Amino acid sequence: MNAYAKKKDLLLAGLRAAPTERTVGLTKQTSNLFRERAPRAAPRIDLSHFNAVLRVDAAAGTVEAEGMTTYVDLVDATLARGAMPAVVPQLKSITLGGAVAGVGIEATSFRQGLVHDTVLALDVLTGDGRILACTADNEHRDLFRAFPNAYGTLGYALKVTARTIPVKRFVHVEHRRFGDAVRCFAEVARLCATADADFLDGVAFAPEEMYLCVGRFVDAAPHASDYTYEKIYYRSLRERADDYLAARDYLWRWDTDWFWCSKNVGAQHPLVRRLLGRKRLNSITYQKIMRWNARVGLGVLWNRLRGVHAESVIQDVDIPIGRAAEFLAFLHREVGILPVWICPIRAPAPGAGAALYPLPAGTVSINFGFWDVVNSRAPQAPGTCNRRIEREVRALGGIKSLYSDSYFTPEEFWAIYGRDAYLAVKRKYDPEGRLPDLYAKCVLRQ
Ligand SMILES: Cc1cc2nc3c(=O)[nH]c(=O)nc-3n(C[C@H](O)[C@H](O)[C@H](O)COP(=O)(O)OP(=O)(O)OC[C@H]3O[C@@H](n4cnc5c(N)ncnc54)[C@H](O)[C@@H]3O)c2cc1C
Repeated sequence: MNAYAKKKDLLLAGLRAAPTERTVGLTKQTSNLFRERAPRAAPRIDLSHFNAVLRVDAAAGTVEAEGMTTYVDLVDATLARGAMPAVVPQLKSITLGGAVAGVGIEATSFRQGLVHDTVLALDVLTGDGRILACTADNEHRDLFRAFPNAYGTLGYALKVTARTIPVKRFVHVEHRRFGDAVRCFAEVARLCATADADFLDGVAFAPEEMYLCVGRFVDAAPHASDYTYEKIYYRSLRERADDYLAARDYLWRWDTDWFWCSKNVGAQHPLVRRLLGRKRLNSITYQKIMRWNARVGLGVLWNRLRGVHAESVIQDVDIPIGRAAEFLAFLHREVGILPVWICPIRAPAPGAGAALYPLPAGTVSINFGFWDVVNSRAPQAPGTCNRRIEREVRALGGIKSLYSDSYFTPEEFWAIYGRDAYLAVKRKYDPEGRLPDLYAKCVLRQ
């Protein structure tokens, strides 16, 4: 805690010594954003040293950590004390601050909500250069409520206090197969209502082939599967009716193959896996390869040679459970990306949710994650498929995450993402606009 206090003092002193009139941005080594942006000139602010876990109180069910702490470090620190963060996003390099500023989700979300629903307190470096302690009921509750989904445009999280839950050594996962979406989502609704599991997510491999993965902590296991090297987790859902994983391996089960997206860099071939080695089979490696490809334009060139027009469709959208089957049918019919990741989310009580990411209170929403490229022979206007998805999501009363490409008009965008709350908080904590505007950042990629 002393070291944290010193870091804060140094940060404030540095900001006072080198004031800037211009918009600032964050320096980071890794990112889970999927929006290409033109490289921006300085000034950038480096908070990467705010990366320590400060306190784990498993008995009280809380963890306090600096904003740039990665989840891989946070999980190790909490598991060592018999606990885990109440929601652990699936990718190891996601940071605690990033998951609160964006929208973090996982298989505990059907009981715990989104990452930001598990946050008890935030220290925020605001656009006007203050560091404020914010909670749901103190004088900065407006900033606390508007911080999730603001993507760093209201300030940067320097410290986060979040809830933890107790763990056991292993997770037993049942893979329940469903031949149609209506019955599958009816079972999701039942499991959410009874909270009769510790983890719940699923995958649609085809319109008639869906699996719900129902996980429960257990103290002992007859065996523990290893999906960190030669075996591939997502394939196991179709191959076996149930499975056991060590708790840590369960939490990172999707990271080794970036769900299934490692296929795009050839990493599912046994030989390539061996060449890469266990240590490099993870989302951080694949991100580096994808960013390198985006820089050198290899994919673009390959598509041009094949005469293909490719649109990147990398989206996570949340749909009220009553319309989930309808949305999935739309996705199969109009988009065609498979597999699709499915994860239910319990919405917080009315008035308690994030101001900029409203989910319908009192109901479960289903997160659909689909990440691929949609090809066409005929040229299409940029974002044609993404635009269609945005319209459908809105028509069904859903909302989409803003970590990748968005094509909303300003009117559409602000009708969805809490315009009034955002503007009021922006005026109060960043009156000179040192941090970018949310629409400009997420849609205009500025
Ligand atoms: C392919 C893909 C799959 C994903 N899958 C999942 C998933 O399964 N589960 C899940 O939970 N999430 C998922 N995400 C979303 C991810 O959690 C968010 O994009 C999150 O914001 C990333 O956090 P990061 O720490 O990597 O931050 P970055 O990607 O570096 O930054 C994200 C944004 O947050 C801002 N930011 C970063 N740190 C802070 C801070 N300390 N304070 C304020 N603002 C900050 C940045 O300025 C930036 O605008 C996925 C994203 C992608 C691209």
